[in-house]
Amino acid sequence: MIKQALISVSDKTGVLEFARALALQGVNILSTGGTAKLLADNGVQVTEVADYTGFPEMLDGRVKTLHPKVHGGILARRDLPEHVSKLEEHNIPTIDMVVVNLYPFQQTVAKDQCSLEDAIENIDIGGPTMLRSAAKNHRDVVVVCDPADYALVLDQMKQGTLGYDTRFMLAKKVFAHTAQYDGAITNYLTSLGEDKQHATRAAYPQTLNLTFEKVQDMRYGENPHQSAAFYRDLNAVPGALANYRQLQGKELSYNNIADADAAWECVKTLGGLGQPAGCVIVKHANPCGVAIGADALDAYSRALKTDPTSAFGGIIAFNVEVDGRAAEALAKLFVEVLIAPSFTAEARTIMSAKQNVRLLEIALGDGQNPQDLKRVGGGVLVQAPDAKLVGLGELRVVSKQQPTQQQLQDLIFAWRVAKFVKSNAIVFCAGGMTLGVGAGQMSRIDSARIASIKAQNAGLTLAGSAVASDAFFPFRDGLDVVVDAGATCVIQPGGSMRDQEVIDAADERGVVMLYTGTRHFRH
Ligand code: 5GP
Repeated sequence: MIKQALISVSDKTGVLEFARALALQGVNILSTGGTAKLLADNGVQVTEVADYTGFPEMLDGRVKTLHPKVHGGILARRDLPEHVSKLEEHNIPTIDMVVVNLYPFQQTVAKDQCSLEDAIENIDIGGPTMLRSAAKNHRDVVVVCDPADYALVLDQMKQGTLGYDTRFMLAKKVFAHTAQYDGAITNYLTSLGEDKQHATRAAYPQTLNLTFEKVQDMRYGENPHQSAAFYRDLNAVPGALANYRQLQGKELSYNNIADADAAWECVKTLGGLGQPAGCVIVKHANPCGVAIGADALDAYSRALKTDPTSAFGGIIAFNVEVDGRAAEALAKLFVEVLIAPSFTAEARTIMSAKQNVRLLEIALGDGQNPQDLKRVGGGVLVQAPDAKLVGLGELRVVSKQQPTQQQLQDLIFAWRVAKFVKSNAIVFCAGGMTLGVGAGQMSRIDSARIASIKAQNAGLTLAGSAVASDAFFPFRDGLDVVVDAGATCVIQPGGSMRDQEVIDAADERGVVMLYTGTRHFRH
């Protein structure tokens, strides 16, 4: 039975309606300064904590609720007679519900001009203390730290179903929340430079605390003898893979998710290339076919041509809605996962006959993914994601031969794709589609050979094609391989000791060569 609730919130979203509904149910409401004022001004009967404890809020709000009458009322076990009699002895009523959200520390330190003093004043003390007291005593106390839970709590109160399970769920949420809050404080403080000012904040703190929430357990990991789960970064942007919505199909596996990410990140970069639709087919984390086209079907049909053998059992991503025509073509291939911003009703119906195919909808959405993390033995490597899309203005023609408009388009497309191919990456393209992809070799020349062999195997001609190399050619031999195969223009970062040798080779062979000035290693 909830007789008394304490409400103290910084984010006041929905709190008025919630408090009103609690009051209607006969709950006595205690509240702190700002929250109490909002409630009282809007006609909710409320007692200020200061009046309740007989102790004023003091030290600029640093001490508001840190009082035995508050914490005794929250922490007392109702099943222990000694606890109950202690409360009676000191005239402390129980507090059966705690509704608290914390000072906005993260938002405060995210501001460029935030001073250390500002940050420190935004470290909430009483709030986490109340949340932790209530969460610890969740058997007897309902604790709400997220306005999104107000509706659920009210509903269950009305139905009389607010039982242990909900209280336990809410308590777990609190400890995840306060852990994340303390993590953010640590990240901030350990990123400050010698002068302790925000201006010299290091990008990477001394102690790195990250909080992830579980999306799902998996039957196994990369191999059947490895256990696995998938976690979402709390800072994931809306267009990130972790925000997928699965429309049909079996549970996603570890490898499905890894490959889906590669496909989705690649297809998202295929906009602005002169065609409305883009399609990426991924196998073992590498694109084995990428194309742009007039619509989803066109892009898919062309992407499939690159390497129909490898596409079997692949992961396919689109940057446009998948319609019925594309779905009909896709239904003919054995596909593990299909990803798109949306599927038409017709496409859904067609795919529903293939229940094993996992359909994922993800909003295209802008925004940068959070840092890249990579586990190594006993540690983790952290870096900014490779979000670089080379602009036209950054390209430099280093060969005597100047590119035609068509070559320029092909090279830009090839460069977009090469970024998502494991190093050493060599990608042949023409007319907005890949022709041969050489991935993950220890030498660039082998990637070049493999790319041209794969194009031959697929029956695709490389005469007049464009080639992207994710990093510089260390010698002219790699360039010779791609030109021998039929390439007439090449895009690469440049920056080798032997750049001149490679430029001379390009001129000798009469091909175009462009420098991007940017490298896209991917391991
Ligand atoms: P209000 O706007 O009601 O004045 O303040 C609400 C905020 O105060 C909440 O975010 C809550 O976590 C925080 N708070 C409650 N009690 C204390 C306390 O004793 N000390 C500090 N520093 N913050 C508190």
